[in-house]
Amino acid sequence: MQGEERVIYLDNNATTRTAPEAVAAMLPYFSEYYGNASSIHKFGGRLAKVVEEGRAKVAAFLGADPSEIIFTSCGTEGDNAAILSALDVCPVRRRKIVISTVEHPAILNLGKDLERRGYTVVKIPVDSLGRLDMDRAREMIDADTAVVSVMWANNETGNLYPVEALAELAHRAGALFHTDAVQAAGKIPFKLRDMNIDMLSVSGHKFHAPKGIGALYVRRGVRFRPFVVGGHQERGRRAGTENVPYIVGMGVAAELAMANFDKENTYVRKLRDDLHNRLIAAIPSVRVNGDVEHRLPNTTNLSFEYIEGESILMHMDIHGICASSGSACTTGSLEPSHVMRAMGVPYTAAHGAIRFSFSRYNTQEDVDTVVEVLPGIIEKIRAISPYWADFVAKR
Ligand code: PLP
Repeated sequence: MQGEERVIYLDNNATTRTAPEAVAAMLPYFSEYYGNASSIHKFGGRLAKVVEEGRAKVAAFLGADPSEIIFTSCGTEGDNAAILSALDVCPVRRRKIVISTVEHPAILNLGKDLERRGYTVVKIPVDSLGRLDMDRAREMIDADTAVVSVMWANNETGNLYPVEALAELAHRAGALFHTDAVQAAGKIPFKLRDMNIDMLSVSGHKFHAPKGIGALYVRRGVRFRPFVVGGHQERGRRAGTENVPYIVGMGVAAELAMANFDKENTYVRKLRDDLHNRLIAAIPSVRVNGDVEHRLPNTTNLSFEYIEGESILMHMDIHGICASSGSACTTGSLEPSHVMRAMGVPYTAAHGAIRFSFSRYNTQEDVDTVVEVLPGIIEKIRAISPYWADFVAKR
C-alpha cells in the first residue's frame, strides 16, 4: 500500500491516482447529499444542478458544449455505445466498421462480436513504428462503411493517430467517425468544437478521477441511439441513476487537468525523456517501441531484448516499481500483445517490452531509482537467459 512502503508508480496508462482534490469534493455526496438527482423533492432534485456543473466542467475540458456530453461508467462503455449507435443510425446497407489493428480490446472485442453478428470489420494496419497505413485507410473506408473508429493515442506505445484526417475520410464516404480518446484526454491539447470528430470516449480514471466514470461526446447534430436503455436520465441517452459523487470527481479532475495543462505535461515529458534516455544509455540491446516523434508526453515503451517482460516486472516489483509489460498471460503461455504483433516487433524483443507511463505525481527521485535499479535487474535476468547467451555468442 502507498504510504506503508515507497511505491514508484509508473503505470499511469493502466490507471491513475484519484486526485485528493477530487476525493475531497466527492465525499459529501456519499453520506450527506446522497439523494437521487432525478427526484422531485428538493433534497435529491437539487443534485441535478451538481450533475450539470460536472457536465459543464467535462465539456470545457474537451472543448465541447455540455449538451454534447453523456456520462458513462467507463471508457469501454463509451466505445461500445458509440459504435453500436453508429450502426443503429446508419442506412441498413452499410455493414462495415473500420478500426485499426492496435485498438484497445474495448473496440477489438466488440469488433469480433459484431463479426459474429454478420458485420464486416476491417483493420487498418500499422508499420514497425506503429504508424497507421493511411493509404490502406483510404482504400478501406468506402460507401459500405458505417463507422470508422481509431484511437487517438495508443495505450501501450503512446503513439498518436491522425484522427482529423481519418474523420475527413469517414465523412467523405458518408460514415461517422469515433475516437477512443481514453489515453489522449488530459495529455494532448484539443478543442472538439474546432474539430470534425463525431463521437469520442474518455475515462475518468486515466486523468485522476475515480474508476467507474467516463464520458461520451456526441457532436451536436449526430444522431445517437442509447446503449444502456431504461430510465430517462441523461436526456434519454444513457439510463441509470446519475452517479453524483463520481460526476463531481470527474468534474474536479477535468478542472485540474485544464488548469495546469502545459506545466504538467512539460514536467511529465521531462521525466519521461530522462528515464528513456538514461535507460537506453545504461542498458545494452534496448529497442524503442513506437513513434517517438508522435507520442504522448507521458509514455515510453522499451524492449529489453532476449528476456521476458513478466520477469522484469516481478523484479521491479520487489523494489516497489510498478510498470506494465506488452504481454498478456493467456492460457499459461506468454503471448506478445496484439500491439507488438501488429507492429511486427521481433519475438525476441516483443516479449521483453515494458511500458513506463507517468503522471503529475511522479518525481525525479522515481526516475533516479529506476535508473539505479533496472540495469542490475536486466543483467541478472539475462545471465540466466539462453536466448541472451545465444545472442552474445553470435555477436
Ligand atoms: N481505451 C483505451 C485506449 C484504454 O487504454 C482503456 C483502458 O486501459 C480503455 C479504452 C478502457 O477504459 P475503461 O477501463 O475506463 O473501461
